[in-house]
Amino acid sequence: MATFSTNGVAFYKPPTNTDEYNVFSDGPTTVDDNSHRSTHLASTFDVAIVGYGPVGGFFANLLALQGHSVVLVEQSPHIYDKPRAIVLDHEALRVLQMIGLGKEIAGMISNHAGTTFIGLDGEPIKHFDPLPPPYPLAWFPTVMFIQPEMEQFLRDRGTSRFLRTTPDRDPSHGVVEVLLEHRVVGLDEDAGGVTVHVKDITGEAKFDKNMLDVVSATSLKRPAGAGETSAGDALSSGKSEPPTGAKHEEKQPFSIRAKFVIGADGGSGNSFVRKSLRIPYDSLDFDEWWIVIDTWLQRPAQPPLPPKSRQYCWPHRPGTFIIGPRNLRRWEIKLLPGEDPAIYSDPVKGLDRIKNLLGVYVEDVDAVDVWRAAVYRFHALVARKWTSERGRVFLAGDAGLCAGIRDSVNLSWKLSHMLRHPEIEPSSTPLLGTYQRERAPHVTTIVGHGKSFGLIIGELDLEKAKARDAEMRRLMAEGKVSSYRQAFIPDLDGGCVAEGDSAGGKLFPQPLVSTATGEKVKMDDALLHPRTMSWLIVAKDIEALDWLSSSSNSFMRSLGAQRIVVHPVGTNRSVESGSDTVVVEELEGVLAAWFEKYNARVAVVRPDRCYAYGAAQDEAGLNGLIEGIRKWLTN
Ligand SMILES: Cc1cc2nc3c(=O)[nH]c(=O)nc-3n(C[C@H](O)[C@H](O)[C@H](O)COP(=O)(O)OP(=O)(O)OC[C@H]3O[C@@H](n4cnc5c(N)ncnc54)[C@H](O)[C@@H]3O)c2cc1C
Repeated sequence: MATFSTNGVAFYKPPTNTDEYNVFSDGPTTVDDNSHRSTHLASTFDVAIVGYGPVGGFFANLLALQGHSVVLVEQSPHIYDKPRAIVLDHEALRVLQMIGLGKEIAGMISNHAGTTFIGLDGEPIKHFDPLPPPYPLAWFPTVMFIQPEMEQFLRDRGTSRFLRTTPDRDPSHGVVEVLLEHRVVGLDEDAGGVTVHVKDITGEAKFDKNMLDVVSATSLKRPAGAGETSAGDALSSGKSEPPTGAKHEEKQPFSIRAKFVIGADGGSGNSFVRKSLRIPYDSLDFDEWWIVIDTWLQRPAQPPLPPKSRQYCWPHRPGTFIIGPRNLRRWEIKLLPGEDPAIYSDPVKGLDRIKNLLGVYVEDVDAVDVWRAAVYRFHALVARKWTSERGRVFLAGDAGLCAGIRDSVNLSWKLSHMLRHPEIEPSSTPLLGTYQRERAPHVTTIVGHGKSFGLIIGELDLEKAKARDAEMRRLMAEGKVSSYRQAFIPDLDGGCVAEGDSAGGKLFPQPLVSTATGEKVKMDDALLHPRTMSWLIVAKDIEALDWLSSSSNSFMRSLGAQRIVVHPVGTNRSVESGSDTVVVEELEGVLAAWFEKYNARVAVVRPDRCYAYGAAQDEAGLNGLIEGIRKWLTN
């Protein structure tokens, strides 16, 4: 959809229109999900989410944990089972940790092995690796996973906790209703909320498990020069037809009310929510076709497959090799001008053609079994606005899964604040405006990096490729290029952060800490309320917390802010936790280095926990930060 990753070099793109169709699929993932459906539907909700892809799922979990009621409306009966995201970063893992799934996800991921860019002569022209330890967020910075498996896990272990039908549901959590095979067909926004028109399409549309996005499929376009009879046409025809012989009564749409609506309904090119808000999009001048092939390694290949992921910067066939979790091995291969994607879906010859493609990079092709493959058109489009005029409808997701997860954590705490303060007017509060202000430049920067990597990898001109190799080797030899992936992920450059504060908007570390009981945990897990999206006041020593004036103190208490003291390594100070302040000791010095960098003793961290609002080294500084927050949250 909006993003593709090449050798783990994630090409994150803003909300995008990517047309795709299935080429081949025969794999072990079970994704049927018909049991995941709520009954006894209420008619009013705090938040309605259009689309139960992974991003919709993250929103639902985050909001329900804060006590808000949510309805998820999803047109498909199934989780999309084609090869998509394979790389997650440590921010996404911290969010999974916040929603209580951190420990379990650990069994489903593997560490990224790093990436080597290979030049024309088969030798490296660039290295690109995850950060070495100590890790800033206490997670390995880049990990591999399988998207449909993770989506199923998010539903089974995450959302299922909040369904009305769940017997031991925690009453402090919001209820989540799930409407599968329901399509949102209309939105009417007014000053008090949004009326969402929903149609039950159970059995009405013929949903191919292999291609759920009917709209994308019908708008499939061929790469320049491809033959007239494309598989796109073949596959798109009849997608919305009822199953043969079945007759279905036309069901009338019904309506539900929500205070806020999130459009997590896939690529902005096709997003119903974007269209209904009449928000135009801009093309980011990136439009390519790639085939993505997932395989399982059956035995050690002879000669062995590369020990790290690879970018084959070869003009005759640019491609990527990715080492996935367990024995998953993926190749992402650029289709050449004039190449017809339909040849890979031919029922007789398709598989052999796919194996021939793999043969460009692998000698021992029989060592792998092809599991599934899909051809994607990556067409980067970015919506011009992410919010409706009245401030009650938002666009999110489909700009890369990591970006979508950042959207969810960024917007959820702001919506949660609005839901607790209905007196604040959504159309005029500066807080909601910070969603687009913070997320759009972030996504655009990452797309820029993705495009520049794309130019390196996808060069088709031999002479230009030779010049590229020479230049990249020179830069590599001079040590002038960063070889760390995280160096390409920007911090916030504005929005709800302390103005003029060098720590404002910076990624806030999560140190490994030792607790009063001697347990070694990630800092967020040591909090009194680890699942609550609250403001954090993090101090190097308990005295810094005494700087809070009574007014600052009571304001932060009214927000439910949590307080934690993280003593530097080896200070041997008491780690007794009080009734509202947790005291721990850091194990590796990650947070101490951060405080030193920003010359601070205390930091105020936003409820997304990923970014600092600001940091202070004295009483006036700390109370100044709180005053700033008060302005953001009360207007
Ligand atoms: C080959 C490939 C590799 C990728 N690799 C990576 C990677 O390594 N890392 C990464 O971070 N990202 C990666 N991505 C991107 C990632 O897969 C997507 O960004 C992510 O799946 C988007 O999730 P989403 O929930 O926003 O959208 P989707 O998963 O598209 O979900 C949207 C849902 O909305 C539903 N819907 C649409 N309209 C309606 C309606 N009117 N009513 C009800 N429901 C509706 C759809 O049926 C769909 O289920 C990759 C993508 C591809 C294609």
